[in-house]
Amino acid sequence: MRLSEFALTTLKEVPAEAEIVSHKLMLRAGLIRRLSSGLFTWMPLGLRVLRKVEAVVREEMNRAGALELLMPAVQPSELWEESGRWDQYGPLLLRMHDRHDREYCFGPTHEEVITDIARRELRSYKQLPVNYYQIQTKFRDEIRPRFGVMRSREFIMKDAYSFDVDQEGLQKSYDRMHAAYTRIFERLGLKFRVVDADSGEIGGSRSQEFHVLADSGEDAIAYCDADNYASNVETAATSRPAGERAAATAELEKFPTPGVKTIQDLCELLGVTADQTVKTLVVDGTDGPVALVIRGDHELNAVKVQKLDGVASPLTMADTGAIIKALGAEPGSLGPVGMKLPVYFDHAVAALSDFTCGANETGCHYKGVNFGRDLELPETVDLRNVVAGDPTPGGSGTLSIARGIEVGHIFQLGSKYSDAMKATVQAPDGTNAVMEMGCYGIGITRIVGAAIEQNHDDNGIVWPGPLAPFDVVLVPINMHRSDAVRESAEALYAELSETGLAVLLDDRDARPGVKFADAELIGIPHRVVIGERGLAKGELEYRHRRDSESRDLKREEVLELVKV
Ligand code: ATP
Ligand code: MG
Repeated sequence: MRLSEFALTTLKEVPAEAEIVSHKLMLRAGLIRRLSSGLFTWMPLGLRVLRKVEAVVREEMNRAGALELLMPAVQPSELWEESGRWDQYGPLLLRMHDRHDREYCFGPTHEEVITDIARRELRSYKQLPVNYYQIQTKFRDEIRPRFGVMRSREFIMKDAYSFDVDQEGLQKSYDRMHAAYTRIFERLGLKFRVVDADSGEIGGSRSQEFHVLADSGEDAIAYCDADNYASNVETAATSRPAGERAAATAELEKFPTPGVKTIQDLCELLGVTADQTVKTLVVDGTDGPVALVIRGDHELNAVKVQKLDGVASPLTMADTGAIIKALGAEPGSLGPVGMKLPVYFDHAVAALSDFTCGANETGCHYKGVNFGRDLELPETVDLRNVVAGDPTPGGSGTLSIARGIEVGHIFQLGSKYSDAMKATVQAPDGTNAVMEMGCYGIGITRIVGAAIEQNHDDNGIVWPGPLAPFDVVLVPINMHRSDAVRESAEALYAELSETGLAVLLDDRDARPGVKFADAELIGIPHRVVIGERGLAKGELEYRHRRDSESRDLKREEVLELVKV
């Protein structure tokens, strides 16, 4: 491709609307242009990258035996009524009417449509397993579209759906997708982790997310390489600390704490650290308020708490009026000593001795609190988010926390949709079996943003080879004034293009500085500069986008580096 014919517009200044580096660079490098909130055009340069992602995904899905089809983006409401999601899905679903006043939605996902296909097409266990996939545009009316294509409203997803006659088959289909996804992200040259997305209580991993690691990621991941463990912070489990609790050394003492509302206020007043205190939170319950006691430096985990007996779901903090009515004290002064409400203690609290907590009397706290003396040693449960340094569930390592971008999700749906929509096949024993389903998504457009988050420097994008829109950029210096440069550049362009490489020839009549800046911004892996002085010595200037210096090399040496 000749850059003079490519209509590339790069931007020097950073667009004001972009918060994170990938969004800024995608706009600056001319990969995407914004149409409206969460809607983007993929410009020719960006589309080349997107097509490369698609190609890798398609190859690996085909290799794993999945069958490509293409479903309509627009879906009739009747199917969603059958699954029960028409009422459940909420404002994320873009709903519309046709001229006959029939209701439709723009598909945010395709479980209903594919289950309808499966119940019509699949009759017998002999046809299974089947895994259908498509690469297609989705629409989700996200509450906060942001970060460019990473959280847009219209985006491209690869979605696959497997059908098996029983759970054993589903597990195999799921494992196959796990392996295919691993190959996809390896081939794309991305650093990623596979994260358990539910607590796995029912046994086995029923849902896992593939996360590209990047500081700007929206999700926090708890992981331990030694233990080969990774989990969403929300779902990572904590356990009761091993070892003996230290013996009590202090007397129980009530002291005044006027104006103390937070753990931080308390720590400043007393000169203690937050891990020597406990905080008591009151939430709505199914039968009156419930108290939750966690260490002062820990964070409550709503997903875990709302599963507890007697706690209302979704989790709602009790209002101040209700707390004062139940306990006679304000929220900043609550504690487990003499607590009148039903109470749950977090595991980590059980390890504390000589700790500080509210006295259930406004403006008063206790210090020197100890279990077995001042209050009963309680049963403990898991109420909190894990933190760095917590032991892994396996117990052999400690957790680190990293941030990740969810680029893929594999999920064992079981019979949720096939039951509701009566998708059955004949089983080997002649009975009708409800099919077991899995669903498997990859955010094709999101991957492009995530890849840039992981691969950039101050001058622009640094594409991993498999994603680069072009493999080589040729930068002739003063091509329009030097026959030698023009001829050499044209010959190199022809020869490299011949080998199947995607070559970009910067034949614009522009200053070398402009060409270099653009080549770096758009992140092409190999850059070859052709100048009169070098040619006189039989040399070209070569630089890989990851190198800090360029090198003068013979033409043959350059060809060798570029062709691998
Ligand atoms: P998220 O938690 O980020 O909202 P999700 O869990 O709702 O995503 P899934 O239903 O699992 O998303 O969809 C499969 C994949 O589609 C996700 O792993 C992600 O890569 C991609 N995806 C989801 N929502 C968006 C979006 N708004 N913009 C771009 N990609 C998205
Ligand atoms: Mg997901």
